[in-house]
Amino acid sequence: MIKFWGKSVYKGIALGPVVLLGSPKHPIKRKKALSPASETQRVKNAVEQSKEQLAALHEKALKEVGKAHAAIFEIHQMMLEDEDYLDAIYHMIRTEGVNAEYAVAVTGDNFSDIFAGMDDDYMKARAADVKDISDRLVRNLSGQGDAAPSLSQPSILVAEDLSPSETVQLDKKNILAFVTVHGSTNSHTAILARMMNIPALVGVPLKLDQLFCGMSAIVDGFSGSVIFDPTDEQAKAAKEKLQAELANQQLLLKLKGKENVTLGGRKINIYANIGSVSDIGYALENDAGGIGLFRSEFLYLGKTSFPTEEEQLQAYRQAAQMLADKNVIIRTLDIGADKQADSFHLDKEENPAMGYRAIRICLKQPEIFKIQLRAILRACVYGNLSIMYPMITSVWEVKEIFRIVKEVQEELDKAQLPYRLPQQGIMIETPAAVMICDELAKMVDFFSIGTNDLTQYTLAIDRQNEKLDDFYQPHHPAILKMIQMVVESAHRHGKWAGICGELGADLSLTEEFVRMGVDELSVAPSMILKLRKRVREIQDI
Ligand code: PEP
Ligand code: MG
Repeated sequence: MIKFWGKSVYKGIALGPVVLLGSPKHPIKRKKALSPASETQRVKNAVEQSKEQLAALHEKALKEVGKAHAAIFEIHQMMLEDEDYLDAIYHMIRTEGVNAEYAVAVTGDNFSDIFAGMDDDYMKARAADVKDISDRLVRNLSGQGDAAPSLSQPSILVAEDLSPSETVQLDKKNILAFVTVHGSTNSHTAILARMMNIPALVGVPLKLDQLFCGMSAIVDGFSGSVIFDPTDEQAKAAKEKLQAELANQQLLLKLKGKENVTLGGRKINIYANIGSVSDIGYALENDAGGIGLFRSEFLYLGKTSFPTEEEQLQAYRQAAQMLADKNVIIRTLDIGADKQADSFHLDKEENPAMGYRAIRICLKQPEIFKIQLRAILRACVYGNLSIMYPMITSVWEVKEIFRIVKEVQEELDKAQLPYRLPQQGIMIETPAAVMICDELAKMVDFFSIGTNDLTQYTLAIDRQNEKLDDFYQPHHPAILKMIQMVVESAHRHGKWAGICGELGADLSLTEEFVRMGVDELSVAPSMILKLRKRVREIQDI
């Protein structure tokens, strides 16, 4: 039995087998090869095995995420046939008499450095691909198998770290819990875990090489602990806790169909935050009144090319249709900072959170923005969609957005494509937007307060930096005063204001939000019924 503590992202209990994602970074040892011919043959076998794995991944991705997403696995298969790359490996084995693992790792690093040093952005991006295929070969040579296991049974996923793009590619239905060595509780990976309704711990000081796939573990998101190889008593206690938790959830389900109304009769909308169309199921199961934040950038992550207008139209249309007449608020592309999409080839920045991200990219690269706007406007004819723009700091940005939207309308008119201009709102997630909210309220239909970024920018704390988790205080009076200001300003101008940051789900603040007059709270689907319960207990005002 080994027990570790970490920071809990979602409170829940999970019990099951461990799957290690990625391999611990062992230095690959240089060894003298007994027979260069057999080392060469081992590489050839590993290449075949890798190609089979990639073909299977391609097949799976085609079904689950579509052609564009799946293409990366085809590219990797082609790279494994590259003669220059393979010859360099065989040459090293022959001339230096080294083991296959070492020759592959060194050649992979060399090729990756060459690509990284190229001027062309596309070629630069290939550096990571060479590294990826070399790592796969090394894993296969050393018998460690596939890095991204397709989970064949419900499992607890343990990893050094997970990026948002890795997270979106996982087979969610078989993940019982996440445990990662790195990561902050405010990161998008943590947000995804909350959305998926599964216990998750980050910042757990694990040594991955002490663990192995298949060993059993208990993740307790209430206490923030994970136990590997638990004793029988510990497993029994966890099962009991899990049963109690399930019973609790059953009680919450009784609230389905009920109103979000305080004892004094004040109503509030409770909506769901989602990252993809596949999350809509969770939102509906939990009786969401609508979708308050569709993080559309997840359509762009993990892909080598931008999603086309038609692909986006499909996604937004499906969302609109699944929610029938309920409101679905699509947040336009919020790429950048921790959400890096290969297709954007974004430069490395000193301060990514304060850098080229979200609406800034859209205004600088309107050709990309317009594709998304066209898709949203066209999808509006299928249901009750709204648009929301992220990271606004100035009035001129909103004016520029509206100018581009107008151009899009003219293009759609010209092409005689059916569309509708929906309600347009903005996210209030920068202190600048709070300070000018009166001017902004005159221009837009609604506000949605993004407390995750608002906390980061107001308190000058990088939300990704795990060392600063203790300083990241969304309860800070500055944040609460800002929320009050924004709500009052919206109401003065006849508009509504909601909260779609994680703070909206903080049950200790629900009463205060209701008192402030917040009109809508948009939260992870798993929090909707808990929040409804809390609202219905509020004595009143
Ligand atoms: C926020 O900043 O509060 C927000 C909802 O947006 P994101 O977390 O996606 O940055
Ligand atoms: Mg934000």
